[in-house]
Parts: sequence; C-alpha cells; structure tokens
Amino acid sequence: MIAPTLTFHGAAGTVTGSCFEIAFARRRVLVDCGLFQGPRSLEALNFQPFAFDPAALDAVLLTHAHLDHCGLLPRLAAEGFRGPIWCTEATRDLLGIMLPDAARIQEQEADRRNRRADRADEPPVTPLYTVGDAEAALELVRPMPLDTQFEVAPGFRARLWNAGHILGSASIELFIGGSHLLFSGDLGPDNKSFHLDPAGPRGLDHLLCESTYGDRSRDPVTPAQRRALLEAEVTEARRHGGNLVIPVFALERTQELLLDLAMLIDGGQVPHLQVFIDSPLASRATEIFRKHRRELQDMAGKDVFRHPGFHFVESVDQSIGLNRLSGAVILSASGMCEAGRIRHHLKHNLPRHDSTILFVGFQAQGTLGRTLLEGARRVRISGRDVAVRARIRRIDSYSAHADRDELIAWVKARQPVAGGLFLTHGEPAALEALKEGTKPLAQDILIPEIGEIWALPAGTSAKRLRTGRGELRAVLHHDWQNDYADLATQLKQRLKRIEGEQNRREAIARIRDVLDRYGAARARRAKKRA
Ligand SMILES: [Zn+2]
Repeated sequence: MIAPTLTFHGAAGTVTGSCFEIAFARRRVLVDCGLFQGPRSLEALNFQPFAFDPAALDAVLLTHAHLDHCGLLPRLAAEGFRGPIWCTEATRDLLGIMLPDAARIQEQEADRRNRRADRADEPPVTPLYTVGDAEAALELVRPMPLDTQFEVAPGFRARLWNAGHILGSASIELFIGGSHLLFSGDLGPDNKSFHLDPAGPRGLDHLLCESTYGDRSRDPVTPAQRRALLEAEVTEARRHGGNLVIPVFALERTQELLLDLAMLIDGGQVPHLQVFIDSPLASRATEIFRKHRRELQDMAGKDVFRHPGFHFVESVDQSIGLNRLSGAVILSASGMCEAGRIRHHLKHNLPRHDSTILFVGFQAQGTLGRTLLEGARRVRISGRDVAVRARIRRIDSYSAHADRDELIAWVKARQPVAGGLFLTHGEPAALEALKEGTKPLAQDILIPEIGEIWALPAGTSAKRLRTGRGELRAVLHHDWQNDYADLATQLKQRLKRIEGEQNRREAIARIRDVLDRYGAARARRAKKRA
C-alpha cells in the first residue's frame, strides 16, 4: 500500500513560515502557506522560489489568518495556483482584510527602498506581491464549518476542529489513503476569551503539534483575574490624570481588551471611561468579530463592540485630534510600536508625567516597544528625540498560545498515536523541551527540518525519505553571523534613538570599549594558559 508523503517547507526548526505539503496518488495539497517573519535573513526566504510548482497544487487547507500561516497565499496565486483555499468562514472574512493590508505593506516597502537615493544605480525592487495578487488569492477561498468532513481533493478528506487560538482558527484532520493525520495549527490557551479550549480527534497515525511555548509554563489566569489586572491599571492611570495608551495587535488582542473594558465599564468598576480605537485595521477586524459574535464565548448575548464608550477613529485628522485629550484610553497599532498611528500617540504621551503606556503583548528584541519596556529614558520617534516621563506598565497574562503544560495535555488527549509525533513551529529550545515533555506519548517524537520528506503509513512509524536543507540551518538557528547581521541593521537605528550628537558618540565609545576589554581579557587568559 502506498503511503501519503509529507514535505516540510516552513515552521520546522523555527516559528514562522508555516507550510506543509502532503502528496498522495499524484495529488498535492498544502496545509498553510505562511510568511517567514523576524530577522532580515529569515524574511529573505519569502523571496526564494517555491520548492513546488504552485500551478500543480490541487488545494490549500488553512489553519488561521495570522500572516505566518497565510501570508504567502497572494504569491501562490500570482504564480499560478488556481485551486480552492479551504478554511473556516471567520478565517475567510479575516483574510479579506489581512492579505490586502500585508500587500500594501509590501508595496510601500518596495516603494520606500526604490526611492532611497543610495539605490539609484541598482535595479528597482519589486514587491513580494501586490494588492491585486491578494485579491486573486481571496477569490479562491472556500469556507467550511467546523466538525464537518469534506473532500479537499480526490482522495483527501478533511475536517476542521476548533483550535481556540484566534477567531476562526482550526486544527486540520486529514484522511488520506488509510492514514489518519492531524495538524494542530496554532493552539490557544485554556481560559481564553471568546473561544472554547482547543478540541480534536483521538486515535491518529501521525500528529503534528506546534511548539511555540514548548519551554514556557504560565500560572493559570482566569478571565476574571485578567480583568482585575486591567481594572487596576486603568484605575491607576486615571488617578494620574493623563491618557492610557495601549499598543495593540489589530487582530484578537484589540477585541479581547474591548471585551474586558466593556465588562469593566458596565460593571461600574471604571465608570464613564472613553476608549478610542485608533487603527483602521483593528477597526475592520473588530467589525468581523461583530459579524461572528454569535460564535464567540463570554459575550453574554450583548454586542459589546458597539459600546457607547467606544470610539473608532477613522481619519488621520481625527487621530491627530486625540492629542488634545486627557483621561482617555487609546488603543493603537502596531503592537510593537514599529509602525502605524501608535507612534504619534507615543510622541505626545511619552513626555507627559501624567500619561501611562501599557503593554499587553509580546515585544520582540530591538523594537521600540521593547526599548521602552527596558526602561529607556529617551527614544527617537520619526526623526525626533522624545523624553520618556510617562509611566511604562505591562500585563503579560493575555496570550493566544497554549503553554507547555497545555500543549502536552492537548497531545495526551489525541492518544493513541500509532506513528510519529512531529514537533513544529518552535525555536530549538522550545522544540527540545516539548520533546522531553511528550516522551511517553508517541512511538517516535520527531523534530523535522525544512526540506525533509516523510512517508506517513497507517498504523506504523513514519519513514524519512529525504533529509533537510542543511544550508538553511544557519539562517534558522542564528549562528553568530546572523546575530551580527541583526545587530548591524539595528545599530544605526538604535544610535539614532539616543538624543544628541555628543551622547551618540559616547555610546559608540562605550561599544568600542566593551570590545577592547573583551579582546584584552581573552589575550590575558590565553597568555596564562600558555
Ligand atoms: Zn497564529
């Protein structure tokens, strides 16, 4: 009996670029087609040719609308893919705003690079894809309800299960040639607002499980406890009199906060609060949550997003008008403060002693959000030095991802697994930690590399048919040259954030000093050994 094969094209040994290809009886189906995100060396992979012929694919199954899972669909359509893209109805609606927005960012980025004077002699940069490509991809989307078996392509049957991660997110169960497979997609935590805990079938031949937080355990927090933390921050911010500025991700985190703020206002804990949502993408995402409100938990039958205390800011003039406010809550994107309207709210509120900046999401290294959390006293925003006098606060109990214990419990609930448990979508430390934690739960626990091909027979171990692309290891696993390239690209930007020529020169002198002393210490040690 011929077994289906599985090729790993992304999210193997790394968190982003989710893309798995399943082949059987001359049919080919992708699960996810996501962007690589993070350091520039990783994002360069988005421009490499696909490792398959897009025109020869029969279908795509999509777990959810985050760009690291769906962000290469426009390129797939541009390069000849014409099959159906299967996902939940909520995911389809979210793709309708996420893909054109991602395309606009790609177009602007290419534009910006082409306009830079020092590129004058180089050939023009073309965007990864255009808004037109995004629209072509959207034409192919076919929504499917959860818990319903359907034919993806001849010989491929699938069923979508609630993954509890974001609106519309699903795990994907596949029946192919006698093999029974499950792809977790991203899994949500227990006790998440809006969504039931993740679900899935039992008794599989092979299982793929994400590992984002495979090495992190959190204390369980109930929605009520999370709301109490938010209440304390809002109350304290109001006591100081200025604005409460919250950098948010447009999709899901904005709506979680709106739900909690609506409950706090209606419950009388923070009466008469005025909340401004100043991100066009967040406003559009909220409309999609409204449309699907009957599928959401915790809504108490109310239309919480149409709250009299909520004001969705559209025009740039209205956005600038918010500068005159005091005592308001301002939710704005981007979540890590690298772009978008949040930057002008920071410019106006960071210098105010009475304002508060509250972080409620992950801040990657090198971002303005992280710089503020690390206690910078001055930052550089849009070419201007800005003093930080506002209070900088954080709540880290909002999460869209299952932690280590929840991932292990999810794998346990899928038992028995006759063949392989493939751990994907994680950094090396998280993958190794989850491998340790799931040891008794599968015959073989495998950490695949990009480029590997596996046969997935029914009832027995998976067999590796091809090894991975070793040349990608350096890009994914961050050797010193990647660290150097990251530092080099950030260095100028970070120096520019320091106010004043003299202070910048002082910072450069200190960097040199660290390197000199490091070299001298190494030399002394070498001398001692000799
Ligand atoms: Zn996700």
